[in-house]
Amino acid sequence: MTADKSKWADTLIHLFALACKLEGEGQYNLAKLCRATADSLSRRAAYAIEIPSAQNDLVADTEQTIDALSKLDVDKNLIAAFQCGAAAMAQGRLALFNETPHPYVCRTCGHLTVGEPSEKCPTCGAWASTYQRFLPVYWLDALEPFATLEKLRQTPIQVESLLQGLPEDVLNQPASDGGWAIRNIVSHLRDAQGVISFRVELFLQDEHPSLESKAVFAWATNENERPSLTREIFETYKASRAEMISQLEKTPLGYWWRVGQHEEFGPVTLKQQVSYFASHELTHLPQIERLAHK
Ligand SMILES: [Zn+2]
Repeated sequence: MTADKSKWADTLIHLFALACKLEGEGQYNLAKLCRATADSLSRRAAYAIEIPSAQNDLVADTEQTIDALSKLDVDKNLIAAFQCGAAAMAQGRLALFNETPHPYVCRTCGHLTVGEPSEKCPTCGAWASTYQRFLPVYWLDALEPFATLEKLRQTPIQVESLLQGLPEDVLNQPASDGGWAIRNIVSHLRDAQGVISFRVELFLQDEHPSLESKAVFAWATNENERPSLTREIFETYKASRAEMISQLEKTPLGYWWRVGQHEEFGPVTLKQQVSYFASHELTHLPQIERLAHK
């Protein structure tokens, strides 16, 4: 498909134009087909592009992209946010919310503002509240409270069944590309569980808690104070999870909409924090499955 870019790129833009027109005429089911197809075409083309994951390469790629964007008619504040984010990555840290606020895009004409718009769209006059907000990751809004609780209950059961019968040497075997062993993934799930249970406590104690940014990913290969057996690490994860679930079940539903200030993600509710962690875990299950069957 990428070889034939000129053909499908025009189709892609046309799909967005048609979706807008169809929505204006109340043809929402046809419009959803346009938007899904446009998303699919873009993702399929992107899936075929290999971008190296080393930090230096990612910084270089982001800088080249900023350079390409600077030649287009793109908002200056957006370019500045990109530059702050790339500089943070070059320093080996995550970009924080105050450096890279959420972008908002006018659904009618595509006008973009960095940070929540307070005025009508300067191009087409659309109401500020109709802009589309872009959150850092879909996990934040993926699950409603009852679905979240169900996932939080189910995932440790699925992990346990994936680990079943695997000897410790298989659990400790690094991936063929030198990446995480199953032990590191289980450690990572346990670390993430530690962060979310601490955050749940903060939300229950304080109506507007402050939430620090945590590079949980980087802790997975740290063996300080880790139990020697992967099974024991799993058991601490499972026990902490069970305790947190029973606490959440006793929490008044309204508390799930308490808003904390997250250093990396900005304002987030308890509902979003828990949805984030419940959704994040699922992305590691195929990784365990692949390592268990090699
Ligand atoms: Zn507009």
